[in-house]
Amino acid sequence: MKEPIVTIERNGQIAAAACTVHDKGGFDPSALNPTIVPLYDLVGAYPLRLEEVPRLTYQSAIEFLARETSQGMPSPEKKHQELAGFLYGYEYQGVFNGCILVKRDDPVTRRRFSVAHELGHYILHFQPMLEVRERKHPEQALVLSEGLIYADDSETETEAVEPSGQLMLISGTGSSARETLRARRMEREANLFAAELLMPRSACQLLARRYEKLTKAGRQFDTRRSVLAMRLASEFLVSQEAMRVRLIELGLLKRGPHVTD
Ligand SMILES: [Zn+2]
Repeated sequence: MKEPIVTIERNGQIAAAACTVHDKGGFDPSALNPTIVPLYDLVGAYPLRLEEVPRLTYQSAIEFLARETSQGMPSPEKKHQELAGFLYGYEYQGVFNGCILVKRDDPVTRRRFSVAHELGHYILHFQPMLEVRERKHPEQALVLSEGLIYADDSETETEAVEPSGQLMLISGTGSSARETLRARRMEREANLFAAELLMPRSACQLLARRYEKLTKAGRQFDTRRSVLAMRLASEFLVSQEAMRVRLIELGLLKRGPHVTD
């Protein structure tokens, strides 16, 4: 099977989408003193409800939706599959309303990444599908959901960077009409969006330069790659592994072993 790739042009679109979300939520990533991205404020600019649910599974997500929003959806095969995040979107009067659920038991850095990943699906994938559907099949209701599952090696930090979900489209009311979407590409795009949102390029560049200056001035910081990723992970409230990947992507760190320099 051909390896799906995220093109440079598409990368630019995803970065622009993250910028739009920053703007809409009143966050300035190029401020002189960047702060932790106020994720809940950003999500609040969209018709999305955000909740943390203990022991999140497909089953508990569906029960939550039924109880809190009266939304019903068919139960998937693996209903006891543990989930890091869950996104449910439904159309109401031309607007894609939705609900993002994240697992309450996860560390805060993981929960933030899960929320940002699901917001990425909402903006990059769900909203455009709604527009297409409205043009072509205005009579059909559109309901979409995604469950973000853990990688097999959930003990490692790597899975926090490249989590993968299962997108499901339910058109009309029958569960027979579901189809699995172009999942792998969309997962990569949602992860890229989360990185752009939580670790804005301009803020990463500014802080990396600042630490470099402090090092050269003989102050307490050093820029061994492990230390730089650790420092900036604290500044952005993300996992060290997610930070390391982002710094490499931005050319601020060299690829290599990340425990020692
Ligand atoms: Zn996903």
